[in-house]
Amino acid sequence: MRYADLHTHTYHSDGTRSPREVIDVAKSHGITIVSISDHDNLAAYFEIKSYADEQGVLLIPGVELSCAFEGVDVHILAYAFDPHDERIDKRLHSFREARARRGVAMVDKLRELGFMITTERVQELAAGGSVGRPHVARALVERGYVASVAEAFDRFIGTGKPGYVEKERFRIKEAVSVIRAAGGVTSVAHPSIYPDHERIVPMVLDAGVDAVEVYHPEVPAADREMYTNLARFRGKFVTGGSDDHGKVKKSETLGTVRVPEGILGWLLGGPPRLS
Ligand code: AMP
Ligand code: FE
Ligand code: FE
Ligand code: ZN
Repeated sequence: MRYADLHTHTYHSDGTRSPREVIDVAKSHGITIVSISDHDNLAAYFEIKSYADEQGVLLIPGVELSCAFEGVDVHILAYAFDPHDERIDKRLHSFREARARRGVAMVDKLRELGFMITTERVQELAAGGSVGRPHVARALVERGYVASVAEAFDRFIGTGKPGYVEKERFRIKEAVSVIRAAGGVTSVAHPSIYPDHERIVPMVLDAGVDAVEVYHPEVPAADREMYTNLARFRGKFVTGGSDDHGKVKKSETLGTVRVPEGILGWLLGGPPRLS
């Protein structure tokens, strides 16, 4: 029996680990099926695919897409698409450009509020990858304006807070069709965190998303059970992963979620099975 972690981040988006470190740490926890699901960026896959092969780790192309649904920011995980697909590459590229512009707009807003962080530093922290609020948060921490990334979100850059700026998002149906056209599948990330999720998640599935991420540090056991059943009754599937970001979040989670290979047959190409 092999184990999988299908939700990880690297420094190509808002994580702090290198792609190699993700592979090594996952393997040290007995996880040999991995997807690096950076926000709007596939760079880690290309960087580390041959290394993963050498290490006997099956690396599945993945990406996390911010989608707009009924005014809620719903994250859709996409997997096992053709990583060389030009349409995907083009869309991800334009989302990364929008993220960079939004990063500048957030720095401007924060500077007007008296927080003297710089665009240059935020870009440096993003290291050429997808710029995200965690990079802005880290810049605020470095300058001593807040004690932690979490405090930056709570006080200044969380949704609706004074330094927050909206970012461009996919429509769910469009994300589903772009990923499907490239041979891939989709899953609703961390279902429990959305406001009114018990109403939203079924609608997202009905919009064409294939699965729900029921194994996740922020999905309690009761929700895992509820969403596994919900998926089953709709003829859909389940996925799971640690959503590790390295040192950005309160704790490193890589290794804490190990999904048995058996439930991922539908995604890995084997016979479909739910649990
Ligand atoms: P963005 O995509 O730029 O809007 O940033 C959202 C990202 O910030 C998420 O993917 C998480 O990685 C991270 N995030 C969201 N809320 C928090 C929080 N309260 N503390 C730390 N990180 C967070
Ligand atoms: Fe993130
Ligand atoms: Fe997410
Ligand atoms: Zn994530």
